[in-house]
Amino acid sequence: MAYKPTIGLEIHAELATNTKMFCSCKNDPDERHPNINICPVCLGHPGTLPVPNKEAIHKVLKFGAAIGASIADESRFDRKNYFYPDLPKGYQISQFPYPLVREGILELPFSGKKIRITRAHIEEDAARSAHEGKATLVDYNRAGVPLMELVTEPDLNSAGEAREFAEELQLILRYLGVSDADMEKGQMRVEANISVSPDANLGTKVEVKNINSFRAVEKAIEFEIARQGKLLDEGKKLKQETRGWDDAHQKTVAQRSKEEAHDYRYFPEPDIPPMKLSEVAEFSFSALTHELPELPNKKRVRFRKEFNIDGEKLEIFVRNKRFAEFFEEAVSEGNRWNNEANPKKITELSVNYLTSDLMGILKSNEISLEDTKITPENFGELMKMILQGEISSRGAKDILAIMVASGESPAEIAKREGVLQTGDSGELENIARAILASYDEAVRDYKKGKEASLQFLVGQAMREAKQQKIGANPAILKEIFLQLLK
Ligand SMILES: [Zn+2]
Repeated sequence: MAYKPTIGLEIHAELATNTKMFCSCKNDPDERHPNINICPVCLGHPGTLPVPNKEAIHKVLKFGAAIGASIADESRFDRKNYFYPDLPKGYQISQFPYPLVREGILELPFSGKKIRITRAHIEEDAARSAHEGKATLVDYNRAGVPLMELVTEPDLNSAGEAREFAEELQLILRYLGVSDADMEKGQMRVEANISVSPDANLGTKVEVKNINSFRAVEKAIEFEIARQGKLLDEGKKLKQETRGWDDAHQKTVAQRSKEEAHDYRYFPEPDIPPMKLSEVAEFSFSALTHELPELPNKKRVRFRKEFNIDGEKLEIFVRNKRFAEFFEEAVSEGNRWNNEANPKKITELSVNYLTSDLMGILKSNEISLEDTKITPENFGELMKMILQGEISSRGAKDILAIMVASGESPAEIAKREGVLQTGDSGELENIARAILASYDEAVRDYKKGKEASLQFLVGQAMREAKQQKIGANPAILKEIFLQLLK
């Protein structure tokens, strides 16, 4: 039978700070040498004292402002006790009853559904362990890196919604500069609490960990909904437990029965006094709101209205901040080149050439826009040249490829490559005469009424013009042939 799935998410994001949460060690997720960024504090040596990182606190508060949450003025840290080799102190400094952020809303971009965010708190990351044969190797570079943990209400009802939430969250974190949130690099980690129920009551909650990609978010939840439904169909009782996602076998596997909060023996962190945030993080709520950038949903609304783009094309711009900036600059440059004559057309051309042609060039060369030399000014000029018929669309694509590599202006390239469609008519007439002389069969066919022969002659003339590096427009050549063939 059909069951209603209920899903809540717990997401950890590594904060993009310069230093770790409680010491001055570098927070460098790209450091490949193990145990370089370590000190007595993050190794948990006796007698060391943690000092909270203001930048990390500030970033979590900024996120809180972005989701319209209520922000604590007073907050404190707690110890979460458990033993594991990747946790040198034997406890993690986290926050339990007094999180920095409570009660925010994240709106899903496509369904418009509003997902309530229960809380977001700050804590420190554990070290990274790797298993080699029978040995476990531990790299403490990650120990003490600041993390934000976010918990949602169980407001999600499908795997697709959960994925949408995670993707939108990543985007918001990146817009804010709070976290790079790269799931493949472990900078954003998703855990899902999933239950199914035949009625309005909540079912038995199963937690799924070890979800390392957006695809896995979707697959793991789909699998779990089906697994739980099947057990209920068979009249079996579900167990509250923690399961892990096995990506290789595309299934969840039992890990342990779920621990409760009291298993961690939380107690107030005695080494850090309770914080009055306006003093510690030197923030005020209005200042936080003021420093927020244009967030993804706002950008969607504005781009729809201003540029009339939607769907996949709009998402290309929303997901790629630099691309969107380039686009806006290019449109304004294009209008300048075109003397503000046809802004609608310039916008349309820019959208198409950016999202299909330029994107295609970047993808096939595996580079990003930042790696290229193309400028919005030159791109805008190219749009004007297309609009005014100075070059063909084929020519525009070739020029664009050269612009990406060399950074030259399109006019310079067009001139050098002989793709301007405004060649001297005397030169074009000479070419047409030569073509007529060498293809008399086509000429005879045309005179018998075979229209295609004219196209053939124009094609031959275009080829010749290109070889001689003379700019040629097929429409102009056609006119010349028609004159000569009279
Ligand atoms: Zn340290």
